[in-house]
Amino acid sequence: MPTVKAYAATSATEPLVPATIERRDVGPKDVLIAIRYAGICHSDIHTVRGEWGPITYPQVVGHEIVGEVVEVGSDVTKYQAGDRVGVGCMVNSCRECENCRAGLEQYCLNGNVGTYAGVDRDGTITQGGYSTHIVVDQDFVLRVPEAIPYEAAAPLLCAGITTYSPLAHWNAGPGKRVAVVGMGGLGHMAVKIAAAMGAEVTVLSRTLAKQDDGLAYGAKEYFSTDDATTFEKLANHFDLIINTVSAPLDVDAYLRLLRLDGTMVNVGAPPEPLPVTMFTLFGNRRSYAGSSIGGIAETQEMLDFCAERGVAPETELISADQINEAYERVMSSDVRYRFVIDTATL
Ligand code: NAP
Ligand code: ZN
Ligand code: ZN
Repeated sequence: MPTVKAYAATSATEPLVPATIERRDVGPKDVLIAIRYAGICHSDIHTVRGEWGPITYPQVVGHEIVGEVVEVGSDVTKYQAGDRVGVGCMVNSCRECENCRAGLEQYCLNGNVGTYAGVDRDGTITQGGYSTHIVVDQDFVLRVPEAIPYEAAAPLLCAGITTYSPLAHWNAGPGKRVAVVGMGGLGHMAVKIAAAMGAEVTVLSRTLAKQDDGLAYGAKEYFSTDDATTFEKLANHFDLIINTVSAPLDVDAYLRLLRLDGTMVNVGAPPEPLPVTMFTLFGNRRSYAGSSIGGIAETQEMLDFCAERGVAPETELISADQINEAYERVMSSDVRYRFVIDTATL
């Protein structure tokens, strides 16, 4: 089993530290990837801090992975050494249930295997992308088009697909008014992708500090949610609201911004339950929904869409010894708009 360099959490409260982990030997259907860049998703922070429940330490997180294929197993047909590839939030699923057969592996009825903190089919705990190498079944590896700048590609594997999937499912496009709540890693991708789909995009952020960026990424309007008049001005206005906020918020206040048959989709994942008043849903026949990442085929579709339309994340490249500082900056919304680790510094 190859031993590789990584950065790991050793408890819910201590900083991440340099570590080594073992990757499995390359099996017949496996691809060995030399990771070049790994994005920092807010889910990494929720996970290592135990906010979504207890985990086993040491734990390496990271599920926005791009790199090159180094070696392939004897039965691998999809990839060869040198290919530029990506890995997102899952590395396996049952492949047999109704949802897997529909290409919706993220909703595998037997549970997909998360790229980190998941239980792999061999019983081991999966370790994620803050590392130099990873071994993944070819069916869960994505092709990263050359048109996407290498350093900027990694965040597409989670932030990109997590926003693309609900935007596509709820038909964001010309004539649709789409609001994006929270201008962070997911939020800025939601703005870019919804605008590229042709929707009329509005950003709802706590302050106007990131307004110039939001408008440059394709939003038509930008409002502060700290200003109570925003909720009056935009009442009954949107067809679709994508809520990317990582903390609890007043769901009813946002639902009231939906017009007839509008839907608010939560992709933000605070651990706490959020109350919803039924009468807010009755008005305008509103829907409140959730959405989890995207299937493998849809992730490839998203990558190809971004390559074709020139959509790329805004990234800040950091070295491994800046990971803990980057976590603090994510927590204080001081990121424009995704930290990406240069894995050569691990
Ligand atoms: P992020 O970069 O930290 O962005 C979150 C944004 O939410 C911030 O930029 C901020 O926007 C807003 N925000 C943060 N704290 C807030 C508060 N207390 N009140 C109101 N707004 C607040 O995080 P991310 O990586 O985009 O992830 C966002 C959430 O999505 C996380 O909970 C993550 O776990 C979840 N997630 C879910 C999926 C899925 O499959 N459903 C996939 C990936 C991530 P403003 O500064 O503009 O207000
Ligand atoms: Zn993520
Ligand atoms: Zn399944």
